[in-house]
Amino acid sequence: MQNPSHIQGVSFAALADEFGTPLYIYDGEKITNQVKTLQEAFSAVPLRIKYATKALSNISILKLIRKAGAGVDAVSIEEVKLGLMAGHPAEGIMYTPSGVGFEEIREAVDLGIMINLDSLPLMEEFGKVYGDSVPACIRINPHIMAGGNLKISTGHKESKFGISIEQLPLILEKVSKYNLQIVGLHIHTGSDILDAEVFLQGGNVLFEAAIQFSGLKFLDFGGGFKVAYKPNDIATDVMEVGKKVGEAFQEFCKRYGRQLELWIEPGKFLVSEAGYLLVKTNLVKESTTVTFVGVDTGLNHLIRPMMYDAYHGVYNLSNSEGKKGKYNIVGYICETDTIAAHRELNEVKAGDLLVIKNAGAYGYSMASNYNSRLRPAEILIWEGKAYQIRRRELFEDLIRNQEILDF
Ligand code: PLP
Repeated sequence: MQNPSHIQGVSFAALADEFGTPLYIYDGEKITNQVKTLQEAFSAVPLRIKYATKALSNISILKLIRKAGAGVDAVSIEEVKLGLMAGHPAEGIMYTPSGVGFEEIREAVDLGIMINLDSLPLMEEFGKVYGDSVPACIRINPHIMAGGNLKISTGHKESKFGISIEQLPLILEKVSKYNLQIVGLHIHTGSDILDAEVFLQGGNVLFEAAIQFSGLKFLDFGGGFKVAYKPNDIATDVMEVGKKVGEAFQEFCKRYGRQLELWIEPGKFLVSEAGYLLVKTNLVKESTTVTFVGVDTGLNHLIRPMMYDAYHGVYNLSNSEGKKGKYNIVGYICETDTIAAHRELNEVKAGDLLVIKNAGAYGYSMASNYNSRLRPAEILIWEGKAYQIRRRELFEDLIRNQEILDF
């Protein structure tokens, strides 16, 4: 359904009554179906899905992901710990750091987690400390410009991520210097990648590098599958990606002389469309050129529109039949805080409930207390029931860590 008023029989309006607004709501069935879709798309290869925890890191969601058969990609030691708390075995978690201190690497290794080495200095230090005793992966920067926009493009020449493919001789030098046990190579070129060819291009870079390593067990193609944001929007054809990348991968494995595993790290694809941010209209304000709809949320809860110019569909839950008007839906934060501009919505009045779509990925996980606002509750709908998987913050949460001086 394009603009649902309920999921799995649970009504959004009833959730607003029970838990208040703003409210993050996740459809657990949609998440597990997305996992299944990827498993089907890559069914011709031994696939491992490592969910990019950063997209939505609630422990109950991580548990659901585990139940659906996927592992975890973590980008901080805290995400590693969340994955473990959710019951993922250490060997089901990969830690892809980005320029972190070595004490974090040590902590992860002590927990039994595989590290994705993302720089030559890290390879050097890792080699000195662990030599060949701890298997690891290497993150390659393939020099591919991909993804929806520059901010979410992570595999190009000027990007901080990974080790440049042009530095492969230096990588190999470190491997042989410390006899490093490299079991995987990794790329992640960006988010919102539409074209199967980009994944193939990345694959070719991986294959050419991989042939120079003798002990590999897997190649990790990263995440970045695009989902639909608007009606009739194009999403990545994951069936096509699975088929084409799968075929190229199997060809490579023949050349390599051994069957490897193919890993992917989807974030958005698994949780974006499963999430809704339910908000209340505080006021409708007519200006000379624009009608503003002010809602009880803002960039503190959903930063994607202001950070990435991301598009989020919005609809009026309280008035699905009313005459259409053009609105700018704006947040209550004291900054330019536009959630959606020049949108056609059924007539909006103060008090109406609006739904912001595609709020599952990089919604709550990027939320903050900016303007000293409290973060919303999170609800998971699973098997027809609503579970509060995080309560709304209270004022006490906001001040909990402050040591108040006695002036
Ligand atoms: N893997 C890594 C290393 C990432 O940094 C990210 C996100 O930036 C992802 C996977 C997931 O990307 P997406 O949510 O676009 O699938």
